[in-house]
Amino acid sequence: MKIRFIRFAIRLTLGISLIFIINACSPDFSIQSVSNFKAIDFSSIKSPNTLVIFDVDETLIQPVDTYLINEHKAEGINFREKMVADHPEVKDWDKILSIILEEAKRPLIEPDIVSEIKKLQERNVPVIACTSMNTGKAALYERLEIWRYDHLKSLGFEGSFTSKDFTLQGFKSQPVFYKGVLSTDLEEKGPVIGAFLDKISFKPEKIVMIDDSGAFIRFVKEECFKRGINFEGYIYQGAKEKKWDEKLIEFQLQHLLTHYHWLNDDEAKQLMQEAPKSESRIAG
Ligand SMILES: [Mg+2]
Repeated sequence: MKIRFIRFAIRLTLGISLIFIINACSPDFSIQSVSNFKAIDFSSIKSPNTLVIFDVDETLIQPVDTYLINEHKAEGINFREKMVADHPEVKDWDKILSIILEEAKRPLIEPDIVSEIKKLQERNVPVIACTSMNTGKAALYERLEIWRYDHLKSLGFEGSFTSKDFTLQGFKSQPVFYKGVLSTDLEEKGPVIGAFLDKISFKPEKIVMIDDSGAFIRFVKEECFKRGINFEGYIYQGAKEKKWDEKLIEFQLQHLLTHYHWLNDDEAKQLMQEAPKSESRIAG
């Protein structure tokens, strides 16, 4: 009797372990990687109870210049710290950062997505952008979220719920929804999207999310699971990479500090070729 019980316990343990192993190894069909928006069948999304969420940076838009593409990577952060340390005479970094925000180009990665989004909205499918960007005062802007909204609008993107402008409570920082753009202020997207849905009293049947961060997509999927919302996620891989170029970036930043104008990569390369000596004398 005792031996039979031990055999049963062993078989049960092996069975449970097998289920765990199969689950861990099985692909997650609700999340897939796409290299462009054409790989997503937007025309099949027809229900007003489906919310479509686009990430902004490296999904809808991307800067064109090497420094900005790498701005949040270790090289960009280290470089910025070094610049600040090397230039104690610069008292107003806000002004410098504002010039970059104003002048550096951040175009749509795939311009056709604007008409795809409009078609969704014509079918009464709500669409919003969700970015983990900071909110509130930044550089010379009183509200960074308005800068983001204005920039996206200038490119043809307008989200749904455009009459709404509110902050979300219950977070360490200050997530804001401003006219179709949800900025999480570096909070995790899952809980912020949950709080946004509560605030507007909307319980979608399904969320479709497109984001270049697989981690963000998984966090939002978890939030949807908790709320009984179906989820479909696409890890967008259409953004370009540019290799860090210390000489080029140093030239651009030196030029910015001297002339209060941001040179894009092409302009900077041309100037570096034309007058490397005179420019370094100005900068130095
Ligand atoms: Mg992104």
